Amino acid sequence: MFIKSSNLLILPLPADRYHRGYGGMREPASYWRRRVFPSRGRDRALQSGNPMTLTRNYDVVVIGGGMAGVAAALSSAREGASTLLVERNAFLGGAATAGSVGQFVGWETSAARRVIAGVAADIVAALQETGGASSHGHFTMSTGHRMDRVEYDPEILKIVLDQLLTAAPVDVLFQAAIHNVSRSGRRIEAVVLDTPATLVEATGHSFIDASGDLAVLSKAGAVFLPPDGNENVQPATLMFALGPIDFEALDNLDRETRDRIIAKGLASGALPRASAHRSRVPGSDSAWFNITRVEIDPDDAFALSAAQMEGRRQALAAARFLIAEMPGCENARLSRLAPQLGVRDFRRVKGDHVLTRAELAAGTVFEDTVACGAYPIDIHHPAGEGGLTFEEFGEDHYYAIPLRALVPVGFSNVLTAGRGVSATHEAFAALRVMPTAMAMGQAAGTAAALAANGAAGDVRSVPMATLRQRLVEAGAFLGA
Ligand SMILES: Cc1cc2nc3c(=O)[nH]c(=O)nc-3n(C[C@H](O)[C@H](O)[C@H](O)COP(=O)(O)OP(=O)(O)OC[C@H]3O[C@@H](n4cnc5c(N)ncnc54)[C@H](O)[C@@H]3O)c2cc1C
Repeated sequence: MFIKSSNLLILPLPADRYHRGYGGMREPASYWRRRVFPSRGRDRALQSGNPMTLTRNYDVVVIGGGMAGVAAALSSAREGASTLLVERNAFLGGAATAGSVGQFVGWETSAARRVIAGVAADIVAALQETGGASSHGHFTMSTGHRMDRVEYDPEILKIVLDQLLTAAPVDVLFQAAIHNVSRSGRRIEAVVLDTPATLVEATGHSFIDASGDLAVLSKAGAVFLPPDGNENVQPATLMFALGPIDFEALDNLDRETRDRIIAKGLASGALPRASAHRSRVPGSDSAWFNITRVEIDPDDAFALSAAQMEGRRQALAAARFLIAEMPGCENARLSRLAPQLGVRDFRRVKGDHVLTRAELAAGTVFEDTVACGAYPIDIHHPAGEGGLTFEEFGEDHYYAIPLRALVPVGFSNVLTAGRGVSATHEAFAALRVMPTAMAMGQAAGTAAALAANGAAGDVRSVPMATLRQRLVEAGAFLGA
């Protein structure tokens, strides 16, 4: 028999499937489901075998709550689309928080032309208002290059993202991972999500796979780019935090002394790479260090798990070395480990266009330019291959990203953004930083919302002039 609340239809569970209430009282599972999911006209809870599946319908479904997915979901909701953001962790940010990267780099050209704005700037402004981010500044990279950045506190970022998405509004589903994908021809119709409570089926007019690992596209049978000729997967890094640090002593250390200490660490094996690169946690006496270097095979789950352990092992060894040898660090302790290994590189989808290094270097302008970037090519090499390839394109150089690089071949209502972008290995090594990922996210979210509203989700049918106009109105930079 159906139990019908005002607008929520629930099938009762078999008598033996009950949840325990807080006071030890036993309540039917349906009672708890109704408390957790307030009734909404578009909800439908149904029992499709075991376990229970709750269905929700949206205009746009974004999978992956990293900085690209967050920017996509915010932009979609700001366009008026009902939007769901699905994240497997219990917090947003992806590499920004789970990886504790600690700095957003590459907002402008070396000549200080700002090429990342829009929703990325909105996120940073909200972060700065809470004291969770530094002002925009510059630093010298381990390669000796000057780079611009905003340092931030990953913990405050989690809270600020919660607030921004709640205000948008975006429905956020945490601790939800892809269970299944329902595809019909060139369309994705729904994703089924594993959550701690029930299975959740989310239908949408359009979908954005911002999971970095391209979890949805992988299950839906998308075509991925084969590795380029000489491509190696970039190593992963487990960030760690030290504090308290005497930043006056550390920052004023002369280059020669610092290089000598780093060389000693490298020779002893305590430092996996010739760097003591760090981002200061704003308003604090601690910093996140980007030093560890772990080779990974992203396709091998057991190897990935072993890599997490190796990252932590390297972090402890590097922390001990810095505390013992680096002026300014002598009173510090290893205060935090990033929750997860930061994975730079995995799959890239084959899109309608594959962005190349040559196009980035030439500053190719596309009719469907929907985002820009200025960060140089920055490839971390696996152990034994030396350090980094770092290639700047020119003083006031920036490059364009076409919508086609966000549109996977073979699908009509799906976009990607961030790590999944359709680009060669070298081009990806420039596009991969977070400000550019957010710019791509804004483009994908706006396109998905416009597609959902009037084009039945077909992202290629969105009028380009309208999309570009909406992006510019929302503050995005699409070229001079
Ligand atoms: C060690 C390291 C250092 C870096 N340094 C910098 C730096 O200094 N400055 C900078 O700007 N950039 C830096 N980068 C690059 C940058 O951090 C990433 O490229 C960028 O954050 C990618 O964003 P994204 O949203 O595309 O992907 P991610 O941040 O990877 O987000 C993907 C999200 O999807 C979720 N997800 C994955 N699979 C599923 C699933 N099946 N179901 C549900 N959710 C799922 C993940 O949990 C994650 O939250 C660094 C990267 C690394 C790894």
